[in-house]
Amino acid sequence: MKAPAFDYIRAATVAEACAALAAEGPDARLIAGGQSLLPAMNLRLASPRMLIDIGRIAGLGRIAVDGDMLRIGALARHDAILRDATVAHHVPLLTEALRHVAHPAIRTRGTIGGNLAHADPASELPACMLALQAVIEAVSPRGTRRIAADAFFAGLFQTALEPDEMLTAVEIPLPAGPFFFQEIARRAGDYAIVGLAASATRFAYFSVADRPAMRAPFAALDFDPPNDLQATGAMRLHLAGVLRDNALTALGIRA
Ligand SMILES: Cc1cc2nc3c(=O)[nH]c(=O)nc-3n(C[C@H](O)[C@H](O)[C@H](O)COP(=O)(O)OP(=O)(O)OC[C@H]3O[C@@H](n4cnc5c(N)ncnc54)[C@H](O)[C@@H]3O)c2cc1C
Repeated sequence: MKAPAFDYIRAATVAEACAALAAEGPDARLIAGGQSLLPAMNLRLASPRMLIDIGRIAGLGRIAVDGDMLRIGALARHDAILRDATVAHHVPLLTEALRHVAHPAIRTRGTIGGNLAHADPASELPACMLALQAVIEAVSPRGTRRIAADAFFAGLFQTALEPDEMLTAVEIPLPAGPFFFQEIARRAGDYAIVGLAASATRFAYFSVADRPAMRAPFAALDFDPPNDLQATGAMRLHLAGVLRDNALTALGIRA
């Protein structure tokens, strides 16, 4: 299928993108890498009247240590983050997780901002943001605000972003400390049946609920995961327990 007809503008700056979002109203959508939005449009699951292309806004793909945090601009592509030596050194959890995100062709286009704004509950990066206690920066015509990752993912494909807000960066506190990442998928590059991104104190499960789910290392796994073509909820719950046990062993955590 083909996408329904839409209008298109390209924003040169964050201010331009936010102003266009505010002016165009709820029928407008930002487009970054297009790797989630365009398939949704082609399947007619989304039909925005106006696309605001933010893909060429200069400087928004920057990755740098800034004081005691790693700052990653919203337009950083999955592949750029995966190959970045600073990320690998300071936050290897992200490097490891990104190896499991989709396929190389998709990783060269998809962005961290688009991935987090899309808020797929089976996605790796939202869970990493929870485990790492990341802060998400959002800009609108009213100014800039910072949202803790714990408060950012609001439900199935839902975030705390206001309709006229654009995600501009994520900030990850350093040092990130030891980590664990594992997911179970039927094939490399598929969305996970279940996964776990963990630091020593924060275990963030994905593909078990309508959003990534944070639990303390020994907390009960009180999820009610969905049944779908890939797995039953009971199987997901069992696998989450297996991943939790693997993480406790790998991180050397004892009750
Ligand atoms: C075959 C296939 C397999 C995939 N497998 C995986 C996988 O295993 N794991 C995984 O995590 N992802 C997977 N993806 C999705 C991929 O990672 C996408 O790149 C990502 O989810 C969205 O990033 P994007 O830049 O392409 O966003 P887009 O598709 O451009 O946008 C996605 C949504 O975010 C909004 N948006 C984009 N940027 C911003 C911003 N800066 N501020 C506010 N809103 C914004 C858009 O309006 C849209 O609603 C897969 C995609 C495909 C096609």
